[in-house]
Amino acid sequence: MKRYVVAGGAGFVGSNACLELIRRGHRVVCVDNLATGSLDNLDSLLDSDRFEFIESDVSVGLAVKGAVDAVLNFASPASPKHYFRLPIETLDVGSLGTRRCIELALAHDVPMLLASTSEVYGDPLQHPQTEDYWGNVNPVGVRSVYDEAKRFAEALTMAFVREHGLKARIARIFNTYGPRMNVDDGRVVSNFIVQALRGEPITIYGDGSQTRSFCFVDDEVRGLLALADSDVVGPINIGNPGEFTVTELAGLVVELTGSASEVIHHALPEDDPTQRRPDITRAREQLGWEPMIDLAEGLRRTIDWFRPLV
Ligand code: NAD
Ligand code: UDP
Repeated sequence: MKRYVVAGGAGFVGSNACLELIRRGHRVVCVDNLATGSLDNLDSLLDSDRFEFIESDVSVGLAVKGAVDAVLNFASPASPKHYFRLPIETLDVGSLGTRRCIELALAHDVPMLLASTSEVYGDPLQHPQTEDYWGNVNPVGVRSVYDEAKRFAEALTMAFVREHGLKARIARIFNTYGPRMNVDDGRVVSNFIVQALRGEPITIYGDGSQTRSFCFVDDEVRGLLALADSDVVGPINIGNPGEFTVTELAGLVVELTGSASEVIHHALPEDDPTQRRPDITRAREQLGWEPMIDLAEGLRRTIDWFRPLV
């Protein structure tokens, strides 16, 4: 049994990771300031004697006492809606928050997994994206608060690997969806499902020809925990290579919900990437991991989870 510190563990991916770690018999200390997460996500864990919750801004510190076997760093607004609203906080948690997680891991000489992102590739000129692609990011645009925070977080992590022998594990997470996304999260899968279930118009931004590759959260967490338990520093893409246009996603959600919602178009946000698809050769070869749940099946499970909430 290990004791994991999960920064950002009240959010969508982090809470799914906490649940899986407890299911596997481990202990979990979740540190979260509830900026975008919710204790509702951890409902079923709050009474467990193997689970602790500390409400704290990780940019300030983690205040974790006792043994630590690994630090998983998920703390950051992740939906564009939220990082547009919290630009300075997003830069702070990517830089200062990552530094605090690194210091905790170094103090215990244990691994620190950084939840980085496919956004480090920006609007990619290489397709699909391999880990050695350096990306195409606008450093002063509205998305830069997130993209550059994560790029800085990767650079900081690697500097600590070189200077202090940090046991780093850098995951580049591609668009992930599933249960415990907030109804108001603002990302495309939750928006479309909530709109379809409510019979409201489905809001496609731009013409809907932009693509994303969607990974079901159970697959994502299995990949992340495999990375955390490995000795692979990365960076390593963890995502589902199935690629869909936003219009195709809308069609699938309407079909699977049996919704009568119409599709409407809104303006495309600034610097919205036109295409995104992970090359997961490294994850297959170095972690023996690949996703198992296709988009239709993952959407069915996510729709079932959202149905009672809307
Ligand atoms: P989320 O917003 O649901 O969860 C983020 C969590 O971090 C929330 O609980 C929030 O309250 C917490 N948090 C934010 N700032 C904090 C701070 N300063 N101190 C303490 N806690 C703080 O987002 P998510 O989708 O679960 O994303 C989790 C991580 O995975 C993020 O780092 C994100 O960048 C990364 N990621 C997610 C995706 C995805 O598709 N979900 C894709 C790429 C990368
Ligand atoms: N998007 C959309 N309608 C929505 C929300 C998002 O068409 O209601 C689009 C968005 O412009 C982007 C894609 O869906 O092209 C994925 O957006 P999301 O915010 O989920 O993730 P990211 O842009 O960070 O990949």
